[in-house]
Amino acid sequence: MLLVVLIFSAGALSIGATSAEPPAGDDLPAPVTSGPDTTAPSTVAEPPAPDGLPGATSEPAPTVPDDPRHEPGPEETEAEPPTALEPPVVEAAPAFPAVRWRRSRALGSHTSGRLVRGVLLPGAGERFVTWDPILRRSPNRAWRRWGSDQLIRTLLAVADAYHAADPDAPPLVIGDLSRPGGGEFGSRFGGLGHVSHQNGLDIDIYYPRRDGALRPPRSVDQIDRPRARRLVRLWLRAGARFVFVGPRTNLTGVGPRSRVQAIRYHDNHIHVRLPRRGG
Ligand SMILES: [Zn+2]
Repeated sequence: MLLVVLIFSAGALSIGATSAEPPAGDDLPAPVTSGPDTTAPSTVAEPPAPDGLPGATSEPAPTVPDDPRHEPGPEETEAEPPTALEPPVVEAAPAFPAVRWRRSRALGSHTSGRLVRGVLLPGAGERFVTWDPILRRSPNRAWRRWGSDQLIRTLLAVADAYHAADPDAPPLVIGDLSRPGGGEFGSRFGGLGHVSHQNGLDIDIYYPRRDGALRPPRSVDQIDRPRARRLVRLWLRAGARFVFVGPRTNLTGVGPRSRVQAIRYHDNHIHVRLPRRGG
């Protein structure tokens, strides 16, 4: 029905006066209204953040073969923008895709588990961006951004609290969560890989940088310590079971030793692990 209308109106347009409007992309909910499009920032285009600097971070950068075993399913595409069947309430398109919530199940353990009905963290939100640690660019690829609803909710709450107390703080820079169904996330997915991150309860967050750049710090000197400390504290308050920090960050004292621990390879990000729901 909508299609017919569109085809018809497209035909009418082509017969009528010249229209400067390019055809709408197939994947957008066909804006039926014509008129200047100046108020509609693209919800799709995320600035590519060109990073022409090789070796911008300190980790080794092995070339990453595409993983043939990973076929991104239809679920992995970004949340679709809401369909607009009732025409022309001209509403500004949401700046960021919405989260599609569903009740998830985190099965097994962090190192041998899976994620049922995971929730996709959008590539960016009002208070966060995501970062692909392998391709070294924003946003992170969608298949690395799945978490349990509990994890996504907690992240958004932490980000809200983080910015409520410090409105000038740059958005948080989020790294990997889990794969769409959880499971193995080792080196065949690029870089060093993750031993854990298997059941939607683990998340990496890069330390805020003193220069405010939305990318991982290259050394601990670039870490904005007051903000990093606050971030750790907020996660503890939000119920994190563990917050892993880097040995050189000097952040272990922020919380009890049973929960804030220093481990290797975490000098540019914290790794937060939530407990299983109810346990
Ligand atoms: Zn991690």
